[in-house]
Amino acid sequence: MSVAAVVLLFAALWGAAVTVVVASRGRLLVATWREPYVGVPVVVIESDDWGPGPPDHAAALEALLAVLDRHRDSTGRPAVLTANLVMAVPDGEAIVASGYSRYIRRPIDRFPEVAAALRAGHGAGTLCPQLHGLDHLHPDGLLERARAGDEAVLAWLAAGGLDWEALASPLQGHYVDGSVLPTRVVAPEVQAALVAGGVEAFTAFWDEPPTSAVAPCYLWDDATERAWAAAGVRYIQTAGYRCTGRDGSGHYVQDPPWLAPGDRSTAGPRYLVRNVMYEPRDGRGEEGAWEALTQRVAEAQPAVLSTHRYNYSGGGAAALAGLDDLLGRARARYPALRFLASPEWGRWIERGEVADPLTGERPPLAPAPPRRKVAAFLRRLWNRHGKIRAIAWGSTLVVPAALLCLLLDPRPGRGGGG
Ligand SMILES: [Zn+2]
Repeated sequence: MSVAAVVLLFAALWGAAVTVVVASRGRLLVATWREPYVGVPVVVIESDDWGPGPPDHAAALEALLAVLDRHRDSTGRPAVLTANLVMAVPDGEAIVASGYSRYIRRPIDRFPEVAAALRAGHGAGTLCPQLHGLDHLHPDGLLERARAGDEAVLAWLAAGGLDWEALASPLQGHYVDGSVLPTRVVAPEVQAALVAGGVEAFTAFWDEPPTSAVAPCYLWDDATERAWAAAGVRYIQTAGYRCTGRDGSGHYVQDPPWLAPGDRSTAGPRYLVRNVMYEPRDGRGEEGAWEALTQRVAEAQPAVLSTHRYNYSGGGAAALAGLDDLLGRARARYPALRFLASPEWGRWIERGEVADPLTGERPPLAPAPPRRKVAAFLRRLWNRHGKIRAIAWGSTLVVPAALLCLLLDPRPGRGGGG
C-alpha cells in the first residue's frame, strides 16, 4: 500500500469518527464550546462548614488563613478562602426546656473566637464569606425526631447541639427534610423563610448580603433556587450536579446529574462547579488534587478546590501542610497564577470582569485566546466523556487530536503556544 493510500485511509477513518461524534454528541459539543474559558491559571478555594463552633475552630481558621497569606499570586494578592458559613446552631438546652416544641438558635455572634477569626481574615483579604445556610439541619425535622423519642437526637440536644456533624447524615440537610427516608420536600414558604433568615443573619454579621450560596449536603431544589434569587443570590455553588433528596436507602437523587459552570438555573442564578477535591480526611489527598488542578488548568477553567472545614479543625496539621504544598507547587509551575473568590469567578462568567469583593480592585482577567480555547475544548471532551475517548482510541483520532493540542497549547498555563 502506498503512502498516499495510507494517508487517505486514515483521513477517511478520522473523518468518519468526527462525523459520528458530531452527529451523536452535537449538543454536547456546542454546550462545551460555550462554557467559560480563562486565559491564565486560576485557583479558587471553596470551604464549607465554618460558623458557630468551639475555640479550636477559630485556631484552625487562623492557622489556615496564615498559610494562605504566605501565597501570593501574580498580582500580589494572597490566596483567598471562600468560606461558606452556617449562621446558627441549635440551643440544645433551651430546646429541651421547651419540651421540643420550639427551635431556638444560638447565632454566630455567641462564638466570639470564631467570629473574630472570620472578621480578621476578611480584613486581611484571605477570607471571602458566602452563605451555606442559616442552619446545617432542618429544624422542623429535628424537632419531629426529638418528639418521637429518637435517642440519638435527644442525647445530641442534651449535649448542647453544637456539632451537627455528629448527627445522622440525612439529618444534616437544611432545605430537605431528612427526618425520614425517602426525604421529604420542604414547602416553598418554609424554605423562603430559612433563606431569608440566613441572608438576614449573614448581612447583620458582615454588613453586606451574600452573592453566592451552597446548600448543606448539596441538597436543594427549585424552591430553594427561587428563594435564593429573591434574596439577591446570583451564584449557586455545586459539585457539578444538584441533589433534590435521598431515596429510601439514603442514596442521593441527582436532578440534574450534570451542571457546567455558568449554566443558569430556571430561577436565574448561575451555577458554579467545584472541580478539584482536596479532602484529605476522606482520603482525597494532595497528589490527586494536584493532578486534577493541572488538568483543570489545561482545560482553561479555574481549579475550584473543595476543602471542608473538618480537614483543618481537630488536628489538621497534615491537611494544612498539604494545602500549603499544593499552593506552592501551583505558584511555581504557573507564574501567571491568579487567586479568586467564588463571587468574582461568578461575576467574570456573567460580565467578563472580576472585582475583588474585599478590595474592589479589578485587575483584568482575559478569556483564553482561540488557540488555547480549541486545545482546552478538546481536553475537556477527552477528560469528561468515556464514549468520546473510546471513539478517539478506536479510530486513532486521538493521535491527530493530541498533536493538535500540543501544537496549539504546548505548555498549558505556562505560556507559549498562544
Ligand atoms: Zn456543610
